[in-house]
Amino acid sequence: MKIIVSFLKRALNVFFSHRCHLCSSVTEFKRSVCNNCAQKVSVVMGCPKPVFDTRFKGRIYTLSSYDGLVTDAIRIIKYKPSKCLLNELIQICLKVPGFEEFFRGDDVLVPAPMHYTRQKKRGFNQAAEIARAFAKKFNCLYAEPVVRMKAVKAQAECNEKERTTNLENVFALSDDYLPEKFYGRRIIIIDDVATTGTTLLKCSQQLEALNPSEIIALVITHSYKKK
Ligand SMILES: [Zn+2]
Repeated sequence: MKIIVSFLKRALNVFFSHRCHLCSSVTEFKRSVCNNCAQKVSVVMGCPKPVFDTRFKGRIYTLSSYDGLVTDAIRIIKYKPSKCLLNELIQICLKVPGFEEFFRGDDVLVPAPMHYTRQKKRGFNQAAEIARAFAKKFNCLYAEPVVRMKAVKAQAECNEKERTTNLENVFALSDDYLPEKFYGRRIIIIDDVATTGTTLLKCSQQLEALNPSEIIALVITHSYKKK
């Protein structure tokens, strides 16, 4: 049986060759990252560490410090867009040794929201996919109490000055959230990447009305250096 499966896999690879999204080498059938790149990404991932000097008032934790390969992966996930690559990145995150100790059973994981027009175009909100996967694996609650009211320029495309004003009046609490779900619990805002922390700050300002015990943020990587 093993031999047949292996033969079929090889045959599929011949007829439907897949390329690694990160280095373009041929990958296994239905894989978007080659083993070599997956290994390089998993090496830079570790238990969440705090990021300093951002605008976010709470604390932002990151699974990896600024790294070219992870940043490339996140850019490709957004602009290609590639849900397959996102899923592979999530799987690498879930395997970080000791990651489960970061979460408490009553944490509520809240994704940074995406405007529905952008989500319709991309097909998914990467922050929501990450938050759902983390909540499922670590037995936390998942909720989407914050919505994005306007589609604005991506923070990554803004200059330093625009980043502070670009997100004014963009977020609001959704009509169908249940405040008692959040009272006294720790809220963890989840996003793929943090730059200045402005998106996370604006989300947290909405979430404060829910009276959580604490609001922190968790991202896969960050790219902020205070000038
Ligand atoms: Zn590769």
